[in-house]
Amino acid sequence: MIYADNAATTKLDYEAFEAMKSYLLEEYGNASQPYFFSKKVRSAIKNARLQIARCINAEPEEIFFTSGGTESNNWVIKCACEPTDKKIIITSEIEHHAILNACKHMEKIGTSVTYIPVSDTGIVKEQAFEECLKKQYKNAGSNEKIITSIMLANNEIGTIEPIKELASIAHKYGAYFHTDAVQAVGHIPIDVKELGVDFLSASAHKFNGPKGIGFLYVKKGTVLQPFNDGGSQEKGMRAGTENTASIVGMAVALDNNIRTLRENEAKLIELERVLESSLNEKGISYIRNGDTKHIPGNMSFSFRGWEGEVLLHRLDLMGICVSTGSACDSVNTEVSHVLKAIGLEDAYAEGTIRISFGKNNTQEDAKKIASSLYNIMKCK
Ligand code: PLP
Repeated sequence: MIYADNAATTKLDYEAFEAMKSYLLEEYGNASQPYFFSKKVRSAIKNARLQIARCINAEPEEIFFTSGGTESNNWVIKCACEPTDKKIIITSEIEHHAILNACKHMEKIGTSVTYIPVSDTGIVKEQAFEECLKKQYKNAGSNEKIITSIMLANNEIGTIEPIKELASIAHKYGAYFHTDAVQAVGHIPIDVKELGVDFLSASAHKFNGPKGIGFLYVKKGTVLQPFNDGGSQEKGMRAGTENTASIVGMAVALDNNIRTLRENEAKLIELERVLESSLNEKGISYIRNGDTKHIPGNMSFSFRGWEGEVLLHRLDLMGICVSTGSACDSVNTEVSHVLKAIGLEDAYAEGTIRISFGKNNTQEDAKKIASSLYNIMKCK
């Protein structure tokens, strides 16, 4: 089997798995209990928080554990700023549904949401972003707070957004800036101080950590209401017994990915080159979507006259896993909102597949995918 859908999820890092085991079988105490049995659990969570904070140049008290990217994104969109403040939200047209649907919910309860367009490579238009902020800032009342949310990297086409520039524009107008960095953390260097963001969402299963765990970075001094009501875990901000094993696994996986980032990046760029040159050698014509600034290994191809669904299923029969868009959208057969936003012609958009390599893929995998596509297409 060739797994080339690493933007959907990744294989668990073996060291992360090893580190998790004892917190499932032996050190299973509840971190909130005062007795000695739970002391090791508390200190494992503390160390994991420190390790994760170091990986993104944050302070440990700025890291809040969540169940993953969806929860982190919903938390910011629904709970940023004082409860008495009215929110004004600005986001982009190409966000993940964990942002878009949270925004739809906010619209239903009366919040104004603006969706900024993107260029044909998926870059958020800075000018449109600033104009929108300027307009909202001018009209905002004293109890209104602007919250902006732009993803760091797009899940379907891999485009990396100019976050540092966008965050600085947002701050000029007193707005909060959140970035959904689910596709970026563990794949490209991230420094929250350098980026200047107020919130950042991450999810462990995208960087070889376990599923169902993630974190939200909340810059010190930023106002955020608790996500749910309950116990005093996570300083009362995110109640619920800590998922110790997953927290530990997430920290180990992130640390390992960060340490091998440069070497993985070089490997993935080479895999991209091998795949594209193999497609070209076989005379397969395609459009590659996205920007030159993209997440290494995340490739979106459009083949005119084909249906992405058909290609996915034929490749599946050959033991190759790819995706038509984002995994969360696999039941939705409509052309993706991202491909629409970049203005891709329908004839191409319908024939789009995402091939996302990870650190376990080889050059042989890239060549096999190209020859399998050739075999599928020559029979049309
Ligand atoms: N944001 C982006 C950009 C994603 O790619 C995903 C997952 O595909 C999510 C959010 C949701 O993350 P999770 O699966 O951890 O809820």
